Amino acid sequence: MSKNTEGEVFKFIDQEITRQSEGLELIPSENYVSKNVLRAMGSVLTNKYSEGYPGKRYYGGNQNVDEIEQIAIDRAKKLFKADHANVQPHSGANANEAVYFAWCQPGDTILAMSLPAGGHLTHGSPVTRSAKIYNFVGYGVTEDGDIDYEDMERLAKKHQPKIILVGYSAFMKVPDFERVRAIRDNLKNPESCILMADMAHVAGLIAGGVHENPLEHGFHVMTTTTHKTLRGPRGGLIMSMGTVSNPLHKVDHTIDNLPTLIDRAVFPGTQGGPLEHVIAAKAVAFGEALEPSFHTYAKNIVKNARALADDLKAHNFVLQGDGTENHLILIDVKRSCGIDGKFYEYALDEIGLTLNANSLPTDKGAAFRPSGVRLGTPAMTTRGLGETEMQQIADAMRAVADLCVAAKKACLAPDDLESLKESLDASAPQLKKLRAEIKALAEKFPLPATGAC
Ligand SMILES: *Cc1c(COP(=O)(O)O)cnc(C)c1O
Repeated sequence: MSKNTEGEVFKFIDQEITRQSEGLELIPSENYVSKNVLRAMGSVLTNKYSEGYPGKRYYGGNQNVDEIEQIAIDRAKKLFKADHANVQPHSGANANEAVYFAWCQPGDTILAMSLPAGGHLTHGSPVTRSAKIYNFVGYGVTEDGDIDYEDMERLAKKHQPKIILVGYSAFMKVPDFERVRAIRDNLKNPESCILMADMAHVAGLIAGGVHENPLEHGFHVMTTTTHKTLRGPRGGLIMSMGTVSNPLHKVDHTIDNLPTLIDRAVFPGTQGGPLEHVIAAKAVAFGEALEPSFHTYAKNIVKNARALADDLKAHNFVLQGDGTENHLILIDVKRSCGIDGKFYEYALDEIGLTLNANSLPTDKGAAFRPSGVRLGTPAMTTRGLGETEMQQIADAMRAVADLCVAAKKACLAPDDLESLKESLDASAPQLKKLRAEIKALAEKFPLPATGAC
């Protein structure tokens, strides 16, 4: 725990430690980092300016930073079998933007999974900067929850995109990367189109060897976050295949030069000085992911997700895609019990289970009251929970769903979220009891680290 005179901010950090310790994190994009990752992130490297790349900086005094960034690059390349890694993107969003910027001109077409189908905001949502610059076309998913490859092929033929992007935040299958590659290879001018995978969610599964690696199936570039299943600090990462040439030389716009184009697109194209304290923490996390124990971790994430999906189905929950092949589960709460995702999210939060409401491919209109909730097992697996605990979580989720159904029945204005919440107050004693059970369960599995020192 932090003891210091800066009471105002640290009071809330301490409260956050308590919140994280007492609750169970089911948000599939969150995780708990190790003490060494926290320590690197909380280091004096934050004081340093190091625009440029190792050996080619615009400032002096980078001898230590150069070593650290090179370790991060080498470990990332080894982890994902990539020819090149850029470890500087501040986030997953920045990583994606840099790739678009590296390869496309304004107005060029990028073919990506549509947001309602499970894609990410940065894959062309009209509220993003990228969507104002590039022409995004969205492919969908089939009824059984797989990528609609026929739709992808039809759209690729019609629009002859510069990038075909496979990536998602709410998709439970392992993509058929070879099939996507064949679609690209059949374009009129395949050399002008790169295959991009945004593996922000499953990067840790790939690193742990329990998920296909798109770079081994002809994909040219892979972006990811470093803070989801990869269990590193909050940040982004871009891996690419191709010949690395000196970024100070003029290069042609060819796939061979993709790594150079990407380096330039990150800096100076879209970012300034890198966050070397975060890059040091990335290096530490990649080192952890190279350990054999990370393979066990990745295997257990998937095992827990399958167990939890089965337990939920046994409790009559309807799951998108009828289950999961990765760490993600999407419950169709509307179809399961007639309540919406936002109300269910609120009620689960009341007992210390944190997850998020999520649209389903079948949802129409605004995503403020979506029909589903999305959950996943990476964070709980880090804390050491196993299949027995998945059963306990599924039981608690069923109990909460039943309380929600009763609250909705008793509610005079069931379309109004605030009225639903008030109606749920009648179940306060049951919720309190469930909360105590979740707290007791959580406290059996402490966080790996709560501070940098
Ligand atoms: C989480 C995510 C991102 C964005 O990452 P940030 O670090 O939040 O910017 C990008 N793409 C996908 C598929 C994601 O799931």
